Amino acid sequence: MSFFNRLRGRPPGKYPNGDAFKHAVMDAYGFTDAAKKILADTRCTVRNLHAPDGGGFWYGPEENRIELFGIQAEAAIHEMAHAWADLTGFYDEYSKEWDRWPTLNRTFRADVRRAAEEKDAQYPRICFIAGEYEFGNPQTGFPGMFENDSERFAGLASGAMADPLRMPPYIRRWYLQLFRGNIQPLAGS
Ligand SMILES: [Zn+2]
Repeated sequence: MSFFNRLRGRPPGKYPNGDAFKHAVMDAYGFTDAAKKILADTRCTVRNLHAPDGGGFWYGPEENRIELFGIQAEAAIHEMAHAWADLTGFYDEYSKEWDRWPTLNRTFRADVRRAAEEKDAQYPRICFIAGEYEFGNPQTGFPGMFENDSERFAGLASGAMADPLRMPPYIRRWYLQLFRGNIQPLAGS
């Protein structure tokens, strides 16, 4: 295929830009109106608007910017959970390693520990992830989350794919201002 054919041949993506994808994910995955308002100013760019590649970055509340590698809903939920938590003051304690904004919430962490220990069979996926976070996994070499409460919070948000009913109630309570269920998954992401 010639260079010009390649340029012409690519059909337009489903989303004109990252912000359009951000809004589509918030609508499809039941983000609350309050959360949508909070995240309205969060800039979102997507490196590849044509593929559901995972991964991304949250650049913190000062930059208020998300970068996603592709149009994958799971990654968008994850980075928006990071953003929402930092923008709403979810964390109430500074860590030793990072002094620019608070990143610790020990009460939340204790609830994740509870899910890891109780392993409630009604919530298998979230309890499994909580177990990985709290105890690590010698088989994969994942050492556990230690003090990393922001990854705990965003990891369980995307682990549940924004569905509060997949979370035990004592975990769910931390997320109800972010999303409320009623999910209609986006096709192709
Ligand atoms: Zn993360």
